[in-house]
Amino acid sequence: MLYFAVAILFVAGCMAKEPIKVLIVTGQNNHNWKISSVAIEQTLENSGLFQVDIAVSPPEKSDMGAFNPNFKGYKLVVLDYNGDSWNDATNRAFLDYINAGGGLIVYHAASNTFREWKEFNKIIGFGGWGNRDESDGPYVYMKDGKVFYDSTTPGPGGSHGSQHEILLNCGDNKHPITKGLPSQWLHAKDELYNRMRGPGQVASPLYFSLSPADNGTGREEIPYCTIKYGKARIFHVTLGHAGNSLEDNRAMQCTGFQVMLLRGAEWAATRKVKQKVPADFPTATQVTYRKQYK
Ligand SMILES: [Zn+2]
Repeated sequence: MLYFAVAILFVAGCMAKEPIKVLIVTGQNNHNWKISSVAIEQTLENSGLFQVDIAVSPPEKSDMGAFNPNFKGYKLVVLDYNGDSWNDATNRAFLDYINAGGGLIVYHAASNTFREWKEFNKIIGFGGWGNRDESDGPYVYMKDGKVFYDSTTPGPGGSHGSQHEILLNCGDNKHPITKGLPSQWLHAKDELYNRMRGPGQVASPLYFSLSPADNGTGREEIPYCTIKYGKARIFHVTLGHAGNSLEDNRAMQCTGFQVMLLRGAEWAATRKVKQKVPADFPTATQVTYRKQYK
């Protein structure tokens, strides 16, 4: 009997997975990072799959010399940062982490930062704002069901129309992140980034959305994708504009946003997605919410 109990404990011990260690990098942003970083932390931790630490940088225009996050101690880094340059050692440590096959999530305005850092822009694939223009790479969007790189049209990189509910179309239903999810679903009222530019390569256009011609570009923009960069696993999400508080934060309270974040995080950390598709996932006509981030 004792042997049996020990055997059961042993099997249970083997099955109980250690949570995946995640580092959120934040502290400077033109957005409400004190809300977004906590919303991401709660979404990830409430799933039971992740254990999250948050690295908060010094405030804008202060000495960044002591900001040295330990990237390599984590399976996944989430960038919620749009601000001053890091110090050289931190930049090198980030590149080492990525080149060693690290997992990365580029979230919302993190694609707006570090215009001058060429390698960073290849890693994030594309970005916007920060005076980006045609010298930063082609416009990247969907055309005829494929990722299209427009290298001929000049103009600024990065903008968005007024917020609206965003109908997402699946661009790759075989990817572990999207497998089993609906081919179309409705995301809560949010910003749909458009005119994104960059030197990188989209690996998979997970979901794209038509930016209305009268409130955007009239092009199919790509708010969810993965980026090709060496051995790294990079999930790029341009949605999730933070609200005023954790309670007033509809873009990040959207069930679809949270489920995509969780699936993208698991994939970026492990290259697999074992999560089941939840019953409360939005449909093509109905936004759903997880207001408690679980
Ligand atoms: Zn925003």
